[in-house]
Amino acid sequence: LVRLRQRLASSQGALGRGLLGLLSRDKLDEDTWESIEDVLLTADLGVAPTQQVVTNLRTRLRVEGGAKSGERPDVRAVLREELIALVDPGLDRRLAVTGDGNPGVLLVVGVNGAGKTTTVGKIARILVAEDRSVVLGAADTFRAAAVDQLATWGERVGVEVVRGGEGTDPASVAFDAVKSAVDRGIDTVIVDTAGRLQNKAGLMDELGKVKRVIEKQAPVTEVLLVLDATTGQNGLVQAKVFSEVVDVTGVVLTKLDGSAKGGIVVAVQQQLGVPVKLVGLGEGPDDLAPFDAAAFVDALLG
Ligand code: GDP
Repeated sequence: LVRLRQRLASSQGALGRGLLGLLSRDKLDEDTWESIEDVLLTADLGVAPTQQVVTNLRTRLRVEGGAKSGERPDVRAVLREELIALVDPGLDRRLAVTGDGNPGVLLVVGVNGAGKTTTVGKIARILVAEDRSVVLGAADTFRAAAVDQLATWGERVGVEVVRGGEGTDPASVAFDAVKSAVDRGIDTVIVDTAGRLQNKAGLMDELGKVKRVIEKQAPVTEVLLVLDATTGQNGLVQAKVFSEVVDVTGVVLTKLDGSAKGGIVVAVQQQLGVPVKLVGLGEGPDDLAPFDAAAFVDALLG
C-alpha cells in the first residue's frame, strides 16, 4: 500500500492536486468547472464519467454548502467520495486462482508490449509467496523472445515453465501446461498467450482454440486482459477486441507508475464491464498489487 501511494503519487498526483486546487477556489464559476472537466478528461476518465462526476460535484457542493450557510463544505471529502463511487461500482475483484477440484487456470491475454509476460511472472511470484504450487505455460510461441522471457521469470520465481519449440501450436502448449498441472495436483496454471493484433477472426480462432483445448482438462477460472495504462483510450479500443473474442473476467492495468492517466481505471470498467483486479507499478517482480479503489483515490488526492 505504501508502494502504491509512492508510485502513484509521482505520476498521478497532478490529477488530484489539480482537482483539489480548482475546487478550493473561492468562487466556482463556469470557467472553473470547465477547467475541472479538462483535468478529468486529460486523465482519460472518458466523457460520460466526467460529466457525471462534475454534475454530482456541482450539486453536492451547492447543497452541502447551502445547508451550513457561510461554511465551506469539505471539498476534499466530497471529491474523495465521488471518485471512490466512480472507481468502485461494486465489482468483485477477487482473483480465482484455484479451481473446484482442478487447478485454477489463468489465461492472460492482451496486445504485445502491454506487459503480459511480466504480469505472468509477477502473479506467479505472489502465488509462490502464498505457498501455492504454480506452472507457467508459454503459449506465445510466435515470439521466441517471449518464450525465453517467460523462462527467465520462471527461474527467477522458482516455477516450472512448459514450452514448445518455436512455432508450436499455442493451443498444444497450453494443453500440455494444464495437463501437467492436473496430473501433478498443481494449484494454479498461468498461460501466457500471443498478442498479435491480427484480424479479429484470426485472434478469435487462436484464443478460442487455446481456451477450448484447455477446457478439455480443466475450466479456465480467470481470463485476464492486460492493458497498458499509458496507451489510454486508444489502448482501450484495442483491448475491446480481446473482450469480444474471449470472456474477459478481469483487467490488469500495467505501467500505472508511468502514467498520469489514472482515469483509465474508470473508463476500462465502464466500457468492458469487468473489474480492474491488479495494477502494475513497475518492472520489478514485486511491482504488482491488487487494485484497491479507496487506496487508489487516496493516492490520487495525495
Ligand atoms: P508482453 O509483450 O505483453 O508480454 O509485454 P512484456 O511483459 O514483455 O512487457 C513489455 C515491457 O513493459 C517490458 O519492458 C516490461 O518490463 C514493461 N512493463 C510491464 N509491466 C510494467 C509496469 O507495470 N510498469 C512499468 N514501468 N513497466 C512495465
